[in-house]
Amino acid sequence: MKYRVTCIPGDGIGPEIMAATKEAVGATGVDIEWVDVEAGADVIEKYGTPLPPETVASVRETKVAIKGPLTTPVGSGFRSVNVALRKELDLYANLRPAISIPGVKSRYEDIDLVVVRENTEDLYAGIEHSVGKDAAESIKIITRYASERIARFAFEYARREGRRKVTAVHKANIMKYTDGLFLEVARGVAAEYGDIEFEDRIVDNMAMQLVQKPELYDVILCPNLYGDILSDLCAGLVGGLGMAPGANLGDELALFEPVHGSAPKYAGQNKVNPGALMLSAVLMLRHLGEREAADLLFNAIRDVVGAGRDVTYDLGGTAGTREMGQAIARRIGELQG
Ligand code: NAD
Repeated sequence: MKYRVTCIPGDGIGPEIMAATKEAVGATGVDIEWVDVEAGADVIEKYGTPLPPETVASVRETKVAIKGPLTTPVGSGFRSVNVALRKELDLYANLRPAISIPGVKSRYEDIDLVVVRENTEDLYAGIEHSVGKDAAESIKIITRYASERIARFAFEYARREGRRKVTAVHKANIMKYTDGLFLEVARGVAAEYGDIEFEDRIVDNMAMQLVQKPELYDVILCPNLYGDILSDLCAGLVGGLGMAPGANLGDELALFEPVHGSAPKYAGQNKVNPGALMLSAVLMLRHLGEREAADLLFNAIRDVVGAGRDVTYDLGGTAGTREMGQAIARRIGELQG
C-alpha cells in the first residue's frame, strides 16, 4: 500500500530532524509519498501569511501529516501557527505518550503513560479581558460536546492499544460547574466501556502521585490546561524534551509532531536529537495501521539510544542529527535481518 503524507518540515532545527526521520521511516520499507508544504514566519513574505491555505488544504487531502517545530516570534502580533493549525483542522485530541527508553537519563525506568489532552477549549481558549485598570478576567469554557468526544477518544484509544485504565483529571471540588461537567461526562462515557477501568483524580493530587507513583497510571484524560501541564510533567519523568513525541488528532485528520520547539540556537548545526520527531513518526505509522513498521522503528530507536554510541549531545554522545538518523536506519536493516 502506498500512503501520501503531508510533510511540514518547520523551521529552526525542523528541516534537519525531518530529513533524518524521513530516512528512518524509509528504511522500514513502508511506501510513503511525502507531500512537502510550508508554514511559519519564514514564509510570510512568500505567501502573505504564516499558514498558507495550500498547507491546510494538503493536510485535508492526505488526512495525515507530520510536522517539525515552528518558531512563534514573541510579540510579532501573529497567532501561533501550531495553535491555528489545530483549530483550523479541528484536531481536538492531543496525545502525548511518555515511555522510558533505556539510555535516556531519568528518575524512573519503567514509565509507560499516555496523556490524552482536550485541545480546543478550557482556559486555553484565551478568552480574556481587562476589567477596569486593576483586574482581568479569563473565561473557562467546558462543553458537554467537547468533553464527551475527548473522553470517548481516550477510551477508544485505551481499547485499541490494549491499555487497562483511564484516569480523568479535574478540580471538580472547586470548579463545580466546569470541571464538574467534565467529570460527569467522563463518568458517563466510562460506563459504556466495561472492559476498561476508570477512576478520577483531583489535579493537584495527581501531580504529586505522578511524581511519587507513576506506575499506578496508564491513560490520563485531561481538560486542556491540566493536560498541558501534566504532559510536560510526564515528559520530565522519562528524561525531558529530546524524546517526547506527540500527535494531534481529529475524527478524520491526524498531525504528528514532537513536543519540543524549534531550538533556533542550534539551527543548521547538525546537532540536535531527532528522537522526538522519530517517535512521533512511530505514532504516525501506528495510525496508518503499519504496526510492524512502527515497532521496527521504535525498536531501532531504543537500541541505538540504549547503545549510547551514535547519539546526540543531549543523550551524552557526540553524534550529529544526521549520524544518529543513519544509525537508526542501519539498525532497522539489521532488525529486518
Ligand atoms: P525549544 O524546545 O525549542 O528549546 C528549548 C531547549 O531544549 C533548546 O535550547 C535545547 O537545549 C533543547 N532542545 C529542544 N529540542 C531538542 C532536540 N531535539 N534535541 C536536543 N535538544 C533539544 O523551546 P523554546 O526555546 O522555548 O522555543 C523555541 C521556539 O519554538 C519558540 O518560538 C516556540 O514558540 C517554538 N515552539 C514550537 C513548538 C511547535 O512547533 N509545536 C513547540 C514548542 C515551542
